[in-house]
Amino acid sequence: MRAMVLEKPKSPLALCDLPKPKPAKGQLLVRVNTCAVCRTDLHLVDGELPDPKLPLILGHQIVGRVEEIGESVDGFSIGDRVGIPWLGWTDGHCVYCRSHRENLCDRAKFTGYTIDGGYAEFVVADARFCFHLPENYNDVEAAPLLCAGMLGYRSYRKTGDARRLGIYGFSNAAHLIAQIAIYQGREVFAFTRPGDKTGQESARELGTKWAGGSDEMSPEKLGAAIIFAPVGALVPTALRALAKGGNVVCAGIHMSDIPSFPYVDLWGERTICSVANLTRGDGEEFLEIAPRVPVKTATETFPLEEANTALEKFRSGKLKGTAVLVINPA
Ligand SMILES: [Zn+2]
Ligand SMILES: [Zn+2]
Repeated sequence: MRAMVLEKPKSPLALCDLPKPKPAKGQLLVRVNTCAVCRTDLHLVDGELPDPKLPLILGHQIVGRVEEIGESVDGFSIGDRVGIPWLGWTDGHCVYCRSHRENLCDRAKFTGYTIDGGYAEFVVADARFCFHLPENYNDVEAAPLLCAGMLGYRSYRKTGDARRLGIYGFSNAAHLIAQIAIYQGREVFAFTRPGDKTGQESARELGTKWAGGSDEMSPEKLGAAIIFAPVGALVPTALRALAKGGNVVCAGIHMSDIPSFPYVDLWGERTICSVANLTRGDGEEFLEIAPRVPVKTATETFPLEEANTALEKFRSGKLKGTAVLVINPA
């Protein structure tokens, strides 16, 4: 099978011809139709995440069809369309798994990080972590739901019932989550890179109450803010925009250092938290609500062989939507 492989960090992916994997007990062999590109993939290429499997096939927003089924699999048939997300395996018995926090499992394995992902013609995945996908989305549209959507949704849930929601870094995830927030009657304030008029315009088109640069002060105090940009300096900025009792949610897996700030900015029961990974429950809830909104995904497609181009366009901010690799066109 063809695969784009990260042989070592800080080098481009290499096109390789690898043996087709075999599904072990509990696993599905999936023929990959599409795989969306995530910022985490860039962090992996740049060597910013510890201890990846190497060599590694990136990609954790995978849409494909079940080709072969290992022993002891329930709920899937040959030919079913499935989505494979970031959380690929948990041990099921650590203190986190036993308290509905499998996203924090000490021994968790992650698709396209510690196990091989979807920048390839085939992938094997633990069936218990795969999702059936809503019919309303085709293979290209569905791919970004699997990380930008699901992890974005977990970040959004952490904002509780805040009526005024700030979003810093109006990325792919932000676009998806803003649609849900607006659907649920919240007021969304979008903060883009300073001077990014195009980004601000596209935020307004979605129906945000306000859009401006992250160097601007929010016109109203916020009940909560989500930071999607990997920029630590935004944490004190977002804190200063919060009303008392407000929460700053850091949604990324990697962020530059947070500069120091006066305690008075945190005072008033403001909090800062991070979001790590997802649980299967987050994924199911998101896939249930997304078609009702309906959440629309903007995408730009690339053939598998052009994964490096897709990553570079992502890095330089030149994409018009989420980059999606099309591997087996439906
Ligand atoms: Zn991701
Ligand atoms: Zn566990």
